[in-house]
Amino acid sequence: MSTTQRSARAAAFQLARDRLARAIDAAPANARVRLAKQTTNLFRFRAPHQGASLDPKPFASVLSVDGLGCTAEVGGMTTYEDLVDATLAKGLMPLVVPQLKTITLGGAVAGVGIESTSFKHGLPHESVLEAEIVTGAGSVVVATPDGPHADLYRGLPNSYGTLGYAVRLKIELAPVKRFVRLEHRRFDEPKHLAEAVEDVSPGVDFLDGVAFSPDELYLTYGTFTDQAPGGTSDYTGDRIYYRSIRERATDHLTVRDYLWRWDTDWFWCSRAFGMQNPAIRRLWPARYRRSDVYRRLIGLDERYGISKTLDALRRRPRTEKVIQDVEIPADRVPEFLEFLDRQTGQRPVWLCPFRTRDARTTWPLFPLDPARTYVNVGFWGTAPLPRGAGDGFHNRAIEAKVAQLGGAKSLYSTSFYDPDMFWELYGGDTYRELKDRYDPERKCGDLYDKTVRAR
Ligand SMILES: Cc1cc2nc3c(=O)[nH]c(=O)nc-3n(C[C@H](O)[C@H](O)[C@H](O)COP(=O)(O)OP(=O)(O)OC[C@H]3O[C@@H](n4cnc5c(N)ncnc54)[C@H](O)[C@@H]3O)c2cc1C
Repeated sequence: MSTTQRSARAAAFQLARDRLARAIDAAPANARVRLAKQTTNLFRFRAPHQGASLDPKPFASVLSVDGLGCTAEVGGMTTYEDLVDATLAKGLMPLVVPQLKTITLGGAVAGVGIESTSFKHGLPHESVLEAEIVTGAGSVVVATPDGPHADLYRGLPNSYGTLGYAVRLKIELAPVKRFVRLEHRRFDEPKHLAEAVEDVSPGVDFLDGVAFSPDELYLTYGTFTDQAPGGTSDYTGDRIYYRSIRERATDHLTVRDYLWRWDTDWFWCSRAFGMQNPAIRRLWPARYRRSDVYRRLIGLDERYGISKTLDALRRRPRTEKVIQDVEIPADRVPEFLEFLDRQTGQRPVWLCPFRTRDARTTWPLFPLDPARTYVNVGFWGTAPLPRGAGDGFHNRAIEAKVAQLGGAKSLYSTSFYDPDMFWELYGGDTYRELKDRYDPERKCGDLYDKTVRAR
């Protein structure tokens, strides 16, 4: 990009940012402004929005990549797909790249993302150097770890847009090599896997895993390499990545294919659409084998109640959607997996070990112990409801178990906490102070209303 192009892009960005600030300022108190985004990876469904909607497009591109300094300036609503394309072109990647292509940088920071580099680099918000935020008060502030808005910098993760919108983020990048070598190691007991995640050799660049059943679990160790002896695998066509974990001990992928290895089949959730039936897979156009396409189909189903009606007509037993990611201290993972298998019977389950990156910085709305290794446990599907039980039966039990084990639950999906418990877990006192300072007229909504009451 030439200097003139860069200046034009910066001027357009500032214009749009100031317009956004004026729009929020002009909105009446308690107005509930909201982003009019085309894609989302949230799994909470809510009624169509009546209030003011903000246009995210001016903030949906990469502003610049500094190859020497290993940083990027990125619009807050940029998808990781675009961000990765821009950084890989310079031989770099964001420190943490969530698995789904249309997750946006702002969504991963305000909604707490994770991926297989998190055992090394922590969570996406921990590689943010500064965040330019249009607050609920309609002001523009630059939040940094030590500046006058350090409270907002720390409060942004898990605020889900309720303090304001990050329109620009400066993030750290890391150099890549051409390929990633994968090694899938099997464990017969969760206890052994939990021990292994505490003891990862320094040469490993990526680490995640899958529990296919309580006695068949895998960790996948990924290492950057310049060579791919025997060639690379392709899981965007007939073959399916998660199945390969059980079938082969080692593998090679290009860096780009590695980063999006889970997107083609939305982990394993594409099976709900018949996508793992070879005949249907062949007919399904390759460009539609993407997580955002499946997410849109689920959204339509939710809106029109198609599968609920079909289930009722077929007299199938009622089920509850159990779509959650929870962070469990590594040593308590065996107990959690045993509980989850008994409670919901969901298989497979995704496992992503992580530690917070810097013990000196804490994140009050999503508190984690910097001295502990955690494992993000992801399970996405439905579970049968016992006779007489209603929605929330399984999800409430999971919330209670996570709290008992000293874990934390991501808030991108359904939640059932009562307000006292919720605010105890998610930094209620700090949140109230942040709201008074950055959204005094409550234009951006309340975290509990948004994430539990789905308002
Ligand atoms: C099956 C499944 C698997 C998942 N797996 C992963 C995973 O492996 N790794 C992972 O990281 N996540 C995962 N997620 C969760 C996902 O990262 C979060 O839901 C994330 O918040 C989505 O970001 P988004 O940009 O798509 O969503 P959006 O709907 O755009 O945003 C999410 C929230 O953040 C707010 N927000 C968005 N942009 C901004 C901004 N610029 N400033 C302030 N607030 C903003 C929005 O108001 C909204 O409340 C998974 C979700 C599902 C359903």
